[in-house]
Amino acid sequence: MTQRPAESPVTALRGPALSFSGDPFRDGLERTLVHEPDAIVAVQDGRILHFGPARTIQRLLPPGTAVRDYGKDALISAGFVDSHVHFPQTPMIAAYGEQLLDWLEKYTFPNELKFADKEHARHVARIFLRENLRNGITTSCVYCTVHPQSVDALFEEAEALGLRLAAGKVLMDRNAPDGLRDTAQSGYDQSQALIARWHGRGRLLYAITPRFAGTSSAGQLAAAGALWRAHGDCLMQTHIAENRAEVAWIKQLFPDRRSYLDVYDHHGLCGRRAVFGHGIWLQDDELQRLHVTGAAIAHCPTSNFFLGSGTFDVFRAMASERPVRVGLGTDIGAGTSFSILATLGEAYKASQLNGQSLSACHAWYLATRGSARAMYLDDRIGSLAPGMEADLVVLDMRSTPLIAFRMDHAADFAEQLFVQMTLADDRAIQATYIAGRLAYSRTTPSLV
Ligand SMILES: [Zn+2]
Repeated sequence: MTQRPAESPVTALRGPALSFSGDPFRDGLERTLVHEPDAIVAVQDGRILHFGPARTIQRLLPPGTAVRDYGKDALISAGFVDSHVHFPQTPMIAAYGEQLLDWLEKYTFPNELKFADKEHARHVARIFLRENLRNGITTSCVYCTVHPQSVDALFEEAEALGLRLAAGKVLMDRNAPDGLRDTAQSGYDQSQALIARWHGRGRLLYAITPRFAGTSSAGQLAAAGALWRAHGDCLMQTHIAENRAEVAWIKQLFPDRRSYLDVYDHHGLCGRRAVFGHGIWLQDDELQRLHVTGAAIAHCPTSNFFLGSGTFDVFRAMASERPVRVGLGTDIGAGTSFSILATLGEAYKASQLNGQSLSACHAWYLATRGSARAMYLDDRIGSLAPGMEADLVVLDMRSTPLIAFRMDHAADFAEQLFVQMTLADDRAIQATYIAGRLAYSRTTPSLV
């Protein structure tokens, strides 16, 4: 007689909850916003088993289920998704005085040389992932350096935490110092070996990562395109139209291409699972092409302000006649904060400078389901629903004396949420769960 294996235990979180059942930019908040003032999220085997009003879900829980009640001043959400970030730049966040191309030369490249040393890479990866968890970021799309060992170090640390994370070795065969260049062939071979080692292992995914057209020759871009064709379920990430001097330079480097996006498109680097960082200076025909091919833009407002790059127009990119997938990115270390709340506050300011207001609920979508959709992972992460992976963040909506005072004067939930993205930071993150496991708790930070 065979014995049925014992069922894994069910655990549950209780408190106010926020999620999205679709895209509010396309379908409106009324049809997509899920705000439950007293919810239960039940978890089993790393996935969400039930989500809904506590009075309904309570009846479905097995007797004796441990329910962690976070109280009425909490907010449970799907974990934040950072769709554009450079882990090796953690040690150089807040580097003074330069715009993109000079900033790369003066600060970024010397810093990235140090990642030839795997132990240095591992040390920085640990600090980077700890900061992610402290800020409720449960998935990110990460640039490593040109060194394969920098990718191994990050993936090894992410695997130990059970994270869903995408990352890749930067491809860079020109306009970079000795020690930071590969070749079209070596970059291809090293990336292919990393894909074989890491892509689809646990929850890890590989992202083919040409840094940008300024540091990759046409031959390397073509090799990256061939690699992506051979491994179509990998992501592809690069930078585009971040800064006006960069846009002019790319035009000089590729005089035969119609546009910046066409440089990538021509080499097979535009399509589903492509995430383009920034896209501030894209033309309408380029946005149209992103829409048609299903490629995405990562909006990185703190970085754009810090480097003086410009203000990305999220409403233009997501315009209903040809909506582009848009996610949110911290872009550490040009970005200035690991806090997604602070990043959303800057996204609001960018939209204001473009003459439109980004509502807190629309902003929250960008940081969760929107970023997941940009990475083609919205069937697994980014929202609260049965079957989704149980990556969760729990906020404290009264994390500082000023915020607590301000919350007493908030008329409704939308205003409460807007107060968070304008005033709150890492102190508002009470707990972060990875696949249902408590990975960070504000009260016991030694967990990570
Ligand atoms: Zn970047």
